[in-house]
Amino acid sequence: MSDQHILDAATLKADEAALPSENWFERSETLAKLRKNKKFPTIWCSGCGIGIVMGALIRAIDHLGLDNNNVALVAGIGCTARMPVYMDFNTLHTTHGRALAFATGLKIARPDMKVIAIMGDGDALAIGGNHFIHAARRNLGITALVVNNSIYGMTGGQYSPTTPLGSKATTAPYGNIEPPFPVCQLAEAAGASYVARSTVYHALELDKFLTEAIAKDGFSVIEAVSYCHTTFGRLNKLGTAADMMRTLKDNSISQTVFQALSPEAKAANTKIVRGNFVNIDRPQYTQSYSNLITRVQAGMK
Ligand code: SF4
Ligand code: MG
Repeated sequence: MSDQHILDAATLKADEAALPSENWFERSETLAKLRKNKKFPTIWCSGCGIGIVMGALIRAIDHLGLDNNNVALVAGIGCTARMPVYMDFNTLHTTHGRALAFATGLKIARPDMKVIAIMGDGDALAIGGNHFIHAARRNLGITALVVNNSIYGMTGGQYSPTTPLGSKATTAPYGNIEPPFPVCQLAEAAGASYVARSTVYHALELDKFLTEAIAKDGFSVIEAVSYCHTTFGRLNKLGTAADMMRTLKDNSISQTVFQALSPEAKAANTKIVRGNFVNIDRPQYTQSYSNLITRVQAGMK
């Protein structure tokens, strides 16, 4: 992508259709249709993985054939939480850690809508940690998309609930002494109906898991493992965005490969395991709530 294209996008006025056909936005009909091109360029650092997750989300929604007007994207605060700004759906940009709280209210008011809460690791699991476990426990029909880059990126590189033990952060200059949350295991233990993890290197796998998660009638969680080269990467001397992307490729294995390991090798595994870990059916909250209203209105106990 040339700088001229970025400048073109930045100065684009209301008429998105005026984009020249050779413009890079137009290469994908789906992306051109669902992005808010006039909001580009994004605020994200060049090379950040968040844009890859956004592409996967757009493709998943498009694959399911959902009407834009029937999809709501709800976000809190942070680099990841900027994602809905660039997408042409119903969007709520709310307060830090409260994406799932707002999403809960929206889903109960409009159970027919596909509600997707888009959160970073700090947003979802620190400030929003209570909302996360209780949305899973209730089995609300919401998809929680957690982009895990192991740090608070936007606010300056503070350690988050997923920062690995020993890693440096601006608030952990001698190394983090807190063990991280295993996001998928937390979601499973709290009661989520669908839980899967992939990385921004494995973009097509993210497409598939997101498609399944959004289609699920229950609380679904996608952990999209990404990286933040400008804070976490710099503080921990992990190289460029391309280096960190390569590490995701080299440092992850599929669930199938993991399952074939010996018990000793499984216990010693330090690589990211990618896969769909939970896919169960149990009563979805808004359906139970609707049943309750019907029962009470009918004068039954
Ligand atoms: Fe991405 Fe980190 Fe830059 Fe935020 S600060 S846009 S997470 S690289
Ligand atoms: Mg983060």
